[in-house]
Formats: sequence, C-alpha cells, structure tokens
Amino acid sequence: MKFDLTPLLRPHIVNLLPYTSARDEYTGKDGIFLDANENPYGSVTDADHNRYPDPYQLDLKEEIAKIKRVKPSQIFLGNGSDEAIDLLFRAFCNPGKDNVILLPPTYGMYEVSAGINDVETRKIPLTPDFQLQPDLILKAVDANTKIIFVCSPNNPSGNKVNREDILRLLREFKGLVVVDEAYIDFSDEPSFTTHMGEFGNLLVMQTFSKAWGLASLRLGMAFASKKMIKILNRIKPPYNISGLTQETVLAAIQKVDKVNAMIADILQEREYLRAEMSKLDFVQKIHPSHANFLLVQIPNASHVYDDLIEEKIIVRNRSKVQLCEECLRISVGTRTENEAFIQALKKIYEESYNL
Ligand SMILES: *Cc1c(COP(=O)(O)O)cnc(C)c1O
Repeated sequence: MKFDLTPLLRPHIVNLLPYTSARDEYTGKDGIFLDANENPYGSVTDADHNRYPDPYQLDLKEEIAKIKRVKPSQIFLGNGSDEAIDLLFRAFCNPGKDNVILLPPTYGMYEVSAGINDVETRKIPLTPDFQLQPDLILKAVDANTKIIFVCSPNNPSGNKVNREDILRLLREFKGLVVVDEAYIDFSDEPSFTTHMGEFGNLLVMQTFSKAWGLASLRLGMAFASKKMIKILNRIKPPYNISGLTQETVLAAIQKVDKVNAMIADILQEREYLRAEMSKLDFVQKIHPSHANFLLVQIPNASHVYDDLIEEKIIVRNRSKVQLCEECLRISVGTRTENEAFIQALKKIYEESYNL
C-alpha cells in the first residue's frame, strides 16, 4: 500500500535544510581532521572522546538491524525514546492547531511532549481491563489529528493491547500510529515491526532502558519506513547519541545471552512477587502483566505509598490515575529487594491498617 507522509508533515518541515558538517562530504575514517574545531591532542580523560561521534550511528544500526530483523535505514536512534516522541510532535503537529489522541492510563511523556509543543490531546480512555476502544478512537479523529499513541505492553497497567485493535487503527486512521513497545522484551507478543512493510503510517518505539539495563545511557529506538526515518534524521540534533553510548551499546548487543538471562530472572521474580502478594488478604487486585512491573490495587494506596517511603522503599503511586484508583505500580526487583518490599507491606498493614 502506498502511503504519502508529506501531507501530514508541518509545511515548513518539507523543505527544511538540515545541519550539515564536512564529515557528510568526507566519510573516510583516516585523514587529518581540521574541520570541526576539535582538540587534536586528545581528552583530559584517560580514554579519548575528542572527536564528534557518527551523527547517524551507522555501525550501531547495522547490529540493531540484525537482532530486530529490520533494515538499518528503518531505524532512528534517539537520546531516549523521549527524543523520538518530541521529534514526532515537531515534525507533524502544528502548535495551536493539530491534535493527537492519547489512551489513558498511559505513559506520561506523550502528554508532556504535547504540552511542550502546544498540541491538543484528545483522550479516549482504555476499557477497565485496559484495552482500546477503537470505535471511540476513530470517532475522535478529525482533519487535524496527526498521531495516535498506543503503548503495548501498556505502562502503567502492564497488559498487552489486543493486536487486532491496533491493526484496525493502522488500517483506518490516515495519520501516524505510534506503538510504544518499551516493555516488549518481557512479553511473548511479537513486535509490530513485522507489520512495517504493510503500513507506512506505523512507527514502533523500543528502548535500551528496560530489559537491556542501559537506562543511564539514554538510547531509544524508533522503527518505521525509510521515509519517516529520513524526516526524523533531518530534524534531530546532529550529534544526539554520544560516542560513548554508541560504543557501549555496540558491545552490549553482542551479549544477547546475558539480556535473555536477565529477562528470565525478572519474569521469575515477577511471578514470585505476584505469588507473595496474592497471599496477602488486603491486596485487592494484581493486574496481569507482560512487563517488568505489577499494578496492584490495595486499600489506602496513597498512605501505603508514604509508609513505604518511610521504609526507604520507593514504588510508583498511580492511585489518582483514571482506572488505576488505589493502585501502586511496583517494578520487579531482585529477590532480596522483593522480599524486603513484601515484608514492609505486611508490617505497614499490620501496624497501621489492622486488616
Ligand atoms: C520507560 C519507557 C520508555 C523509555 O523511555 P527512554 O526515554 O527510552 O528511557 C518509553 N515508553 C514507555 C511507555 C516507558 O515506560
């Protein structure tokens, strides 16, 4: 199916001239580089960081392409997924005019980024079991609706979203459908990247922040058509991924076995946490999870949250969020951490709430 992105773009982006450097013209690795005002002697640190990094991260994309079964030209790398989210707003959404559709309860950054870019958000809540309402979503679309953000597995609920519903949005919505798969590594659900050939309006986001354990490096991935990736590349800050990050992740990618072992441990610990919490009478509901956290409903959630902080145990209080009333979101920790959490929870209830 042919899909023309150009009418969706903000008009001034269509002809925008991106930043260029002399290295766009000379791509060799050897030479005397007197073009970028770098320090020729090296760095003040032991390791050298004196040269600007590859703006398009080609070596890294080559390796990511192999493990994700996409082409390097279908990959955009951002300073966290959050950079990709922001760039999508800047490329497609005219401030004060266009709108995007959000499906709460969901990841908070879509709304923050919309706000920063002065873009209206239309909210179509998920069902009580955190699934899409495709009819209502499609009804909310108008001529200025540019993006629908779907998060699957969803944060903060943890469930995976019905595939058929997402496919329907891809078929029937003429704007962009972003599928945020930050937690896909913890799920048995195949990635939506397998549908990239079918849908020019699909953009899939993943990240190195969760399963890969590299949150501090800030590296997010977006997978989409070559045309869409070109647009993101044209408007991104030229050197958005540091050389240190590129090198570190390049080495990390060779350790797929280690990632898989950590994922297996996390899944096992998730089920340990679920089993231990379901033994506690006061726990009202533990939502199904395809992610590395559990959404748990307990009475007095906000107070329990505060009491946990007193014990230096920090969880995420989602109790004021629509459809997550009285819920805490608990990231899966190590066995020691999970045991400490369960002990603290028991103690708080026995001492304060007497259930
Ligand atoms: C954690 C998370 C991300 C990752 O963001 P980074 O900027 O890549 O660290 C993206 N989307 C969702 C839904 C998340 O929960």
